[in-house]
Amino acid sequence: MNIVIFGPPGAGKGTQSKFIANKFNLYQLSTGDLLRNEIKNKTQLGSEISSIINSGELVSDEIVSNLIEKFVSNDTYKNQIIFDGYPRTLIQAKNLDNLLKKHKQKIDMVLKLSVSLETVKKRILERQTQEKRADDNEEIAIKRYEMYEKNINPVIDFYKQTNLLKVVNGETAISEISNEIGGLIESIKG
Ligand code: AMP
Repeated sequence: MNIVIFGPPGAGKGTQSKFIANKFNLYQLSTGDLLRNEIKNKTQLGSEISSIINSGELVSDEIVSNLIEKFVSNDTYKNQIIFDGYPRTLIQAKNLDNLLKKHKQKIDMVLKLSVSLETVKKRILERQTQEKRADDNEEIAIKRYEMYEKNINPVIDFYKQTNLLKVVNGETAISEISNEIGGLIESIKG
């Protein structure tokens, strides 16, 4: 099965994706992690995107879609991907649909983690002390939240039409959220 998970920065996408990947034997494909790796490895792409990421803007649809295609076209990951942080725009959602069709796959569930801006600020500041991400400070966190809000509504509408969308309250404890997500996925497993 393939699953999409999205939510604002600090919603717990990464944490919950790890949980789902372990429990259901899926591969966690985080575009944020892939992009940060490019920066860490000082690649050409890394140097092009570092200022965009550090300012809280989104990188281009083309760049992330190219990164995604490498995995969707690889049989090792066929029907075993959790898309963490992708799609984030309507163009990306449509692109993912086309890409999956081309490789004879589909999305089985779309999870939206909902959290308030207040919670986002609190969690980002906590994470800042642990992970030292360049884009984890209050000003950039607000910017990233705004970017999310600005782009995500057409994505939500897109997935509402397919009946795949499940909204999960991301304000509660990590284990509680995991339990809810685990139950939702169990319910669609054959
Ligand atoms: P994340 O780790 O998901 O919070 O992503 C960190 C940053 O990477 C974002 O603020 C964007 O700059 C960039 N990024 C990650 N995924 C995407 C995406 N699907 N589309 C555009 N930019 C992305």
